[in-house]
Amino acid sequence: MVANECYGSDTKRSLEDRIGHQTVVKEGIVLAPYTTIKVGGPADFFVEVNSADSLQSAVLAARKLEIPYFLLGCGANIIIGDAGFRGLVIRNMANHISIDQHLVTAESGAIMFPDLIELTASHSLSGLEHYVGIPSTVGGALWQNLHFLSPAPLRERTMFIEEVLEFADLLTEENEYKRVGIDYFEFGYDQSILHHRDDIVLRACFRLETKLQTSIHTVMKENLEWRALRHPDLHTEPSVGSIFKKIKGIGAGRLIDECDLKGASIGGMVVTHRHANIIVNQGHGTAADLQSLITYIQEQVAHQTGYHLETEIECVGEFDPPTQGDPVFLERPEGLVTAEELAMR
Ligand SMILES: Cc1cc2nc3c(=O)[nH]c(=O)nc-3n(C[C@H](O)[C@H](O)[C@H](O)COP(=O)(O)OP(=O)(O)OC[C@H]3O[C@@H](n4cnc5c(N)ncnc54)[C@H](O)[C@@H]3O)c2cc1C
Repeated sequence: MVANECYGSDTKRSLEDRIGHQTVVKEGIVLAPYTTIKVGGPADFFVEVNSADSLQSAVLAARKLEIPYFLLGCGANIIIGDAGFRGLVIRNMANHISIDQHLVTAESGAIMFPDLIELTASHSLSGLEHYVGIPSTVGGALWQNLHFLSPAPLRERTMFIEEVLEFADLLTEENEYKRVGIDYFEFGYDQSILHHRDDIVLRACFRLETKLQTSIHTVMKENLEWRALRHPDLHTEPSVGSIFKKIKGIGAGRLIDECDLKGASIGGMVVTHRHANIIVNQGHGTAADLQSLITYIQEQVAHQTGYHLETEIECVGEFDPPTQGDPVFLERPEGLVTAEELAMR
């Protein structure tokens, strides 16, 4: 099918006119490069917005013209289907940040790390440094309620971004501009109201506290080291982070490991030996391969342990049928210490 054959020939122009800000709407842009796992076919229409105002205009334009739209951050928590997205993909690059004493206000396309976290650290402001190394925009961080373990050595609890959120400016699903506090978000683990309402975060304000730069940098260094030991490097091993939701007290990764599913590979996707809950794109992987491997893991774990694994990533757009066939198993690289082994130490 021709990418946008279901729209009138003037749809691109109508979008551009409504968005304004000299925005260029592109057609048929392949989305894989805009995701961390590098899968996803073409979007009918694609626009990059550089300010909260243009973000708001782009969403309002799509709503007015009744064109389905998807707001894309770093693409770190989504799988886009190989057949792409029918409608408008809005890539959020609105990244202005301002600091007023302890209050840091960032547009929702600002990149958490390095941009926002390094900037706040350089101002001796603490509260965001826990989330170093996680690919995320500010908007994606609120959608997910970004989380990580509290600092070493105890790492006794999970910290959430909601703990430092002061307020956020939204374009609500009713097209209202609204400033909301944290209660509005109904935050939970991997949860916020943004999963259930089509509200758009335009900007967020965080209340941080003054700390010595050395202690902020220590947390950043230790957390980056922790991640480097346990997670595949995104630059060489594209992934979407954890695929399956936590099962309380058990851990999805542990179940997958116990079922000997590390190294299982379908097409270009493989369960990495480094971390059983992470699937890596070996370079030629597709969303169809990924879906097939996910189903295989779910079936094996259910069969061998009785637990049902649920995915924690969002599927976006149109998917081709999953790749057919059984997996092959790739050898564990020599000398590799796995995340599960590190957890036992
Ligand atoms: C290697 C790796 C490690 C990870 N580790 C962690 C971790 O330790 N902790 C953790 O919590 N997560 C982790 N993640 C998951 C991911 O980084 C987070 O979910 C991140 O917050 C996603 O942000 P994003 O900008 O990429 O959002 P995207 O994936 O682009 O979008 C996710 C959803 O958010 C919506 N969205 C994005 N921006 C806005 C906005 N402005 N307003 C409303 N909705 C919006 C999108 O429409 C979409 O529905 C990891 C991922 C990877 C790849």
